[in-house]
Amino acid sequence: MANWVLKGLRTGIKTSAYRSAVEAAPGLSSGQPRGVALPARDAAALVERCPTGAINSCEGGIAVDQRRCVDCFRCHSDVEEPAVPWRDGYEWAAYADDVAAMRRKLDRAFGRSLHIRFLDAGACGACMSEARQLTNPYYNMHNLGFFMTPTPRNADVLLVAGPVSDAMRLPLRKTYEAMPTPKRVVAIGACAASGGVFGPSFAAGGGVAELIPVDVVVSGCPPPPLAILHGLMVVVGRKPPSELISRPANAEANPQ
Ligand code: SF4
Ligand code: SF4
Repeated sequence: MANWVLKGLRTGIKTSAYRSAVEAAPGLSSGQPRGVALPARDAAALVERCPTGAINSCEGGIAVDQRRCVDCFRCHSDVEEPAVPWRDGYEWAAYADDVAAMRRKLDRAFGRSLHIRFLDAGACGACMSEARQLTNPYYNMHNLGFFMTPTPRNADVLLVAGPVSDAMRLPLRKTYEAMPTPKRVVAIGACAASGGVFGPSFAAGGGVAELIPVDVVVSGCPPPPLAILHGLMVVVGRKPPSELISRPANAEANPQ
């Protein structure tokens, strides 16, 4: 800690540049696969190679459903062709539903600050670890007016990780019901978005939206802290959302 403080004083760099500027420090994000135009045979090979069903054939190529991608890199191998192009960046949060309707709904809800209740609904631990980073001095989310709260009664936003294991179904519902209105739900990670590698199964569901309404989805396995921060800024309308499904046509329009 002392070294970190001394370094900060010496270099003047204390927090991430991500607010108004792009954060370019190495290692902050694993990146994401993106939809691309491909011949039908190559598209079929990639659909076959993806273990989670995130890659689907579409007209003229492949589309990537970011909710299902677990960042296994099997589609981006150096040794196996064809390979899916990768995009850098970390602004991965997307509206969970129709863009126009979600924009109207979120625009009316909050000003600039939020109190956030975090819930582990059967996550493996990595999503929680990434979310926990947001309160450290580097990401410093307090600076943006975002604060964690231990009680749902004070929370504006419910941040949920995990596929919702059977044991967490009731706690999730109760937590959501205990929050005052207006309230918003952000599902973080492939598990919370779609069940990921754990669900649907004998012990877990297929994501948070099966039980409570989700407003914003932050894809990734796990999403890096800046992607989660992007999700919170989408909730308060300070950043535009990304896309849930990357298609050949919009891959160029949203290069990130
Ligand atoms: S990185 Fe994502 S899209 Fe690619 S194979 Fe793995 S799960 Fe599928
Ligand atoms: S999305 Fe990935 S990192 Fe997050 S809980 Fe699921 S398996 Fe773990």
